Amino acid sequence: MALSKQLSFTAGEIESVGDVANDAFAFWKLPENWRLPLAAHNYASEVAAEHYLLEKYRPEEMRRPPAGLQVYYPVKHLLPASVRHYLHSILVRSSERPDFPGWPYEPALLRLMSEWLDSGLAELQSKDGWHLGFWPDDYDCCIVLTHDVESRRGFERIEAIADIEEKYGFRSAWNLPLAQYKIDWPRMEKLRRRGFEIGAHGLSHDGRLFRSFEDFQALAPKLESIAREHELRGFRSPSTLRRLEWLQELDFDFDSSFSDTDPYEPQPGGCCSLFPFFLGRMVELPYTLPQDHTLLHLLRRDALPIWTSKARWIASVGGMILTLIHPDYYGHQPYLAEYEELLKQLGELRNSWRALPSEVAAWWQRRARMRLEVKSSRPIVSGPDVEGAAVRRLSSERLLTWRSKCREY
Ligand SMILES: [Zn+2]
Repeated sequence: MALSKQLSFTAGEIESVGDVANDAFAFWKLPENWRLPLAAHNYASEVAAEHYLLEKYRPEEMRRPPAGLQVYYPVKHLLPASVRHYLHSILVRSSERPDFPGWPYEPALLRLMSEWLDSGLAELQSKDGWHLGFWPDDYDCCIVLTHDVESRRGFERIEAIADIEEKYGFRSAWNLPLAQYKIDWPRMEKLRRRGFEIGAHGLSHDGRLFRSFEDFQALAPKLESIAREHELRGFRSPSTLRRLEWLQELDFDFDSSFSDTDPYEPQPGGCCSLFPFFLGRMVELPYTLPQDHTLLHLLRRDALPIWTSKARWIASVGGMILTLIHPDYYGHQPYLAEYEELLKQLGELRNSWRALPSEVAAWWQRRARMRLEVKSSRPIVSGPDVEGAAVRRLSSERLLTWRSKCREY
């Protein structure tokens, strides 16, 4: 966009757009009296942020399920899971991982937001200021536990995991493929009454939903209808295959099909974000710890040290630790004990918000609609719903940590 257009915004126009956007101003939620002076600077930040968030660093034809999968899916059921995992692991370990995004850490977006803030403060000739905290009630970081249940066998192991989570004071979300195997809904309702959440994991792992627009048009109404019947408001695509332009049209409140970085999925990529962001009106909640399947079957790495060190790194920058564990692979020993150890260590992260995906999505929507104003040197938050709003100093220790953490990787 030409500079003259950027500078032609009026304050009213900018306010009417609101903060349901992915620019740096909306990310930090800075004082409203800074909005106009930083407007031009901010426009460029949305383009830069979405370069990562929407995976625009990948060519357009690679931001969709790979064509080769159309050959794989028809024969997939002929191969036992162990053979599929073995072949996939050989393929993964013999191919070169792309340089970007880095794995398991990619600080590019953190760096962008941090540098934007530094230059914004310089432009305002200010050394410090206020912003709206990323999480409600002044929590320092956020922990979200999610599961995809791939098979009947996994379904039978749900309670084993749920019981351990409950023991450590956690609740989680269970994403189910809605037409892949018979779902015992009364059993899921019992979990719901215990405080767990249920989400839609597409219809089936058959690669069809995002294969073509005709497939999407044929399958989306069935997916939405079953989801509506069972009051499921969250979505994760089977095998995390995705086409952004169609995905955001689905009738869900939030999605979790993106990772911050995952070069090992059938559709590799990553949004580089350790925070929620907006996909149109939908909130995206990227998973930010590597999947159990990736570490166990593909890379054959010891999962716990990778999970815990990345979780600590995310906590240190105040981000969202979002796990994706399958009961199919981790719902039995010895993996269950390893998962329990992960929960123990997550439980030790100080002042962390343990939340369900729906709570985080609702919070991110509410936060976007809050306004921070500074009157007589005092920060005041207004908006339709300001419950939980916490104002923090930009010069807080956490932001200084950001800069050093960005340099580490
Ligand atoms: Zn799955």
